Amino acid sequence: MSVDSPASPPGHFPIVGATRDEVREFVAALGARPYHADQVLRWVYRGRAAGFEAMTDLAKPLRATLAQRAVVFTSAVQRMEESADGTRKLLVGLADGAAVEAVVIPEGRRHTVCVSTQVGCAIGCVFCASGLGGLVRDLSHGEIVEQVLHAQGLLPPEEKLTNVVVMGIGEPLMNYAALVRALRVLMAPWGLALSPRRITVSTVGIAARIRQLADEGLGVNLAVSLHASDDLTRQRLVPHAQPLQHVVAAARHYRHATGREVTFEYVLVRDINDSAADAQGLAEWVGREPILVNLLPLNPVEGLAWQEPPAERAERFAAELRRRHVRVQLRKRRGADIAGACGQLRRRARDEARPST
Ligand code: SAH
Repeated sequence: MSVDSPASPPGHFPIVGATRDEVREFVAALGARPYHADQVLRWVYRGRAAGFEAMTDLAKPLRATLAQRAVVFTSAVQRMEESADGTRKLLVGLADGAAVEAVVIPEGRRHTVCVSTQVGCAIGCVFCASGLGGLVRDLSHGEIVEQVLHAQGLLPPEEKLTNVVVMGIGEPLMNYAALVRALRVLMAPWGLALSPRRITVSTVGIAARIRQLADEGLGVNLAVSLHASDDLTRQRLVPHAQPLQHVVAAARHYRHATGREVTFEYVLVRDINDSAADAQGLAEWVGREPILVNLLPLNPVEGLAWQEPPAERAERFAAELRRRHVRVQLRKRRGADIAGACGQLRRRARDEARPST
């Protein structure tokens, strides 16, 4: 897919990501009434409008003024790739020329979008493409919401986005304020009106921020990327990882304080964390909590030596957990043919743009 429109110039009021009150204030300054703001929001979140011309129940002069002073989106879909399994990956170009990825995953009648929260990532998990160039910048709350709307815009009119997972590029809890604001817009009745039960935030495990999120009262689900059952292995995979004891305690607190689903994500890396002893250790961290373990066989990243375990070994790992009464889901790799792993499309686009020497 080619660029649908250039990312917006700065200085325009960005509608997406603004709260209803902010949009009302903005239109009031243009001499319009509060219900005009509500109409605009309805067009954007329900009507999938990408510009003001489409908002046909607004008077023409108001549409023209809005077009001069505001933008619906600050970002644009630059490129799209579709996998044989229906997974679609979007490269979203931002106003400053940076780009992030969003992925739309169909599963029966569900449509899940996976969004990014940062350009690049500071964490540097050794098997992940997103951290290879370090952190470039945080996304704004609007840039996070825009990814969801770009994804929704791809669906046939009769189908809706049902789930949002914050598992794209970046560490969401390192861009905390923007994350929380974006989540509130996604959940707002005038926004996408998504139930918090249909939203999952995935974190590498920053204990204090997990506790803060629990107190926020949002009620979204939490996924914690554990990847190991002992601290030495974990630090090998996740540099500067906090001790498992702190991370797991914060995750348990989150579950008890919010009553929401908590998942442990565990990327299976061949010969590093895929033994029966690792599975046993992981089961001990889960303990008696109804925590779901999501096993993700590694999606190998070009240029990195880490491999996924053979399928039987992954199965055995899952079986070992089940035997210990742990709820476990062994994920199929999806979208591997379109660079489905985090940060791979952005990286490829950048490499292609670079003149070869
Ligand atoms: N920073 C957050 C969210 C983004 S990554 C976090 O760490 O949870 C989302 C998930 O994808 C994490 O569990 C991450 O470890 C995993 N992941 C990253 N690179 C991967 C790869 N190459 N193959 C499989 N999973 C990967």
